[in-house]
Amino acid sequence: MSFLADFGEIVRENQPLAPLTYFGVGGPARWMVSPRSVAELAEVGRRCRQEDVDVYVLGAGANLLVSDDGVDGVVIRLNAPAFRKVAWERDRDGLVAEGWAGADLDGVAVKIGAGLSMARLTLDSVERGLAGLECMAGIPGSLGGIIRMNAGGRFGQISDVVSDVTVLDETGQVRRLGHGEVGFTYRHTKLNGSIVVGATLVLRPDDADRVKKRYEEIWDYKKRSQPLADYSAGCIFKNPPNDSAGRLIDQAGLKGHRIGGASVSEQHGNFIVASKGAQARDVLSLIGTIRRTVAERFGVELELEVQIWDRCGNGVPL
Ligand SMILES: Cc1cc2nc3c(=O)[nH]c(=O)nc-3n(C[C@H](O)[C@H](O)[C@H](O)COP(=O)(O)OP(=O)(O)OC[C@H]3O[C@@H](n4cnc5c(N)ncnc54)[C@H](O)[C@@H]3O)c2cc1C
Repeated sequence: MSFLADFGEIVRENQPLAPLTYFGVGGPARWMVSPRSVAELAEVGRRCRQEDVDVYVLGAGANLLVSDDGVDGVVIRLNAPAFRKVAWERDRDGLVAEGWAGADLDGVAVKIGAGLSMARLTLDSVERGLAGLECMAGIPGSLGGIIRMNAGGRFGQISDVVSDVTVLDETGQVRRLGHGEVGFTYRHTKLNGSIVVGATLVLRPDDADRVKKRYEEIWDYKKRSQPLADYSAGCIFKNPPNDSAGRLIDQAGLKGHRIGGASVSEQHGNFIVASKGAQARDVLSLIGTIRRTVAERFGVELELEVQIWDRCGNGVPL
């Protein structure tokens, strides 16, 4: 690891990735780096570019399938305290925090680091009687991954509340992108190649009981409709225009279909669940079977929502 030799404290070699993903399958990362600051992250990125090493960014691993061979590159993990900061524009009594630069925004702003847990931030905003994040109930992830994927669902998506996003771009520059520059569309952004380091969200003050009730209703709906306790990566496919991938998979008779340790969830057709001993190749084979069957039956090409990392280098070119 000569090119990262002086970063010994924050670098691990051959780090297993399976325990760091919600699927729980896949091989190791050749290197895993947990930078302690944006400057350290930028320097690691610069060296990777210089050495032509692929860079991957790991959030909470909730939308990720890592191949059984793992990845031949540097996996960045933004779990240091510098990337988990949260600063609220107002305290719980509504007083504007001293020196706050975002106070002119329409709503209550919160500045967050990319490594922060979505669940934690959602609960905190609900407790403060701030509306806008209840729609994220039951969606696991780090804020960086949530923004990169424009995560959400029928109740709303993260782009509804994002004011700006700070990234380290592919040239090594730290840039603050306004909402319009992020390129939010359905489960997609134009952030490929950039690492999200932080963002500003704007939430709406509302009646605290109403916000809590809506949050609980959405949670209940998720618990009833999704296999939240199983190993999975959420929805495997994006919904085709005006249709539902889960419905097509169900109609194709694939619910419960199993290959090795991977099976289509009985509860939700668009979830593949991995049981003990499952391998990434089981999940990949099942993905192939589903795509072929749905294409043959309905003429619909399902597009992947889950991100796949393999030795062929699907990292970000930094
Ligand atoms: C039980 C379950 C339910 C789910 N329900 C939903 C749902 O309802 N709606 C929905 O949209 N999703 C859902 N998901 C998927 C998942 O929660 C989201 O895709 C989430 O955005 C993943 O965030 P993450 O931090 O885990 O990202 P990861 O899985 O770690 O990474 C996903 C992608 O984001 C990139 N990435 C991660 N961090 C950064 C960063 N800082 N900068 C740049 N790129 C980054 C990764 O490189 C990768 O390409 C569900 C998943 C599970 C397991």
